[in-house]
Amino acid sequence: MFRTAAPGQLRRAASLLRFQSTLVIAEHANDSLAPITLNTITAATRLGGEVSCLVAGTKCDKVAQDLCKVAGIAKVLVAQHDAYRGLLPEELTPLILATQKQFNYTHICAGASAFGKNLLPRVAAKLEVAPISDIIAIKSPDTFVRTIYAASSTSPVEISEWLDQKLTKSDRPELTGAKVVVSGGRGLKSGENFKLLYDLADQLHAAVGASRAAVDAGFVPNDMQVGQTGKIVAPELYIAVGISGAIQHLAGMKDSKTIVAINKDPEAPIFQVADYGIVADLFKVVPEMTEILKKK
Ligand code: FAD
Repeated sequence: MFRTAAPGQLRRAASLLRFQSTLVIAEHANDSLAPITLNTITAATRLGGEVSCLVAGTKCDKVAQDLCKVAGIAKVLVAQHDAYRGLLPEELTPLILATQKQFNYTHICAGASAFGKNLLPRVAAKLEVAPISDIIAIKSPDTFVRTIYAASSTSPVEISEWLDQKLTKSDRPELTGAKVVVSGGRGLKSGENFKLLYDLADQLHAAVGASRAAVDAGFVPNDMQVGQTGKIVAPELYIAVGISGAIQHLAGMKDSKTIVAINKDPEAPIFQVADYGIVADLFKVVPEMTEILKKK
């Protein structure tokens, strides 16, 4: 996200809220909306003012119609053209700039996914404003928890072409949209041991996530990382297994409705945010949980 108006302009009385307007850039796969767009819309509505959504793509009518039903959206803007196949930042940026020129939004937002992280720094550079990344909370319209991206490069020539898209196929729900997430950390000790979590997740129809330590150790691929520099999740139930609860991990899951932590260290910080804590060896407890669920 970034502000397109000068900070001083926005830091005045609450009455200014009615002059605010936010554009959310929809992330989608033409016929289905990425769930992270809905999270972004919720965040955008908290900024106050009117929220519009821009849908660019090739055959994205269904997504546009779905967005029309989302509470809090004042306008849905649709741009369909072959150039928007693959949602390349190089193609979307001129469209967003033209939209901004026409409607003068005070804020432009996208989800903190690879899509948003590729797109917004480019748009911000063109608008000569600084993008704000890794937003984990909006306390008031003026108070953001934020980290500023390094200055975006404005390298002159970059030619990109969309060739193909291969989505990872999985029977499990997608991490950012799942109602239940089971995540593993360094405590799992190896990639093979993640099977314990997959078995548990199968019983709960859950997605499987991981801490950065587990990703960095090569246990699992990095698209499973939850946290400040990974995916932001807010499921009904988040089960953290062998995860200590570093602040950067909490940034990605602390809005989960119910948090269960399994850790052998009673002092692990994860227990401070957990609704239910199990102080135990995960290699004993997780298979036991799976067996109990299998019998249900
Ligand atoms: P550890 O901290 O090593 O914790 C492992 C836990 O497993 C311990 O609490 C231990 O008691 C427990 N354990 C061990 N064996 C068992 C057992 N047999 N049974 C039960 N429990 C056991 N981290 C993220 O997760 N996501 C991010 O997006 C992220 N972004 C970052 C960005 C920056 C800029 C930085 C500096 C760091 C970031 N980190 C992120 C890293 C973060 O600071 C932590 O290092 C990381 O989250 C730790 O992962 P962990 O909890 O799996 O490992």
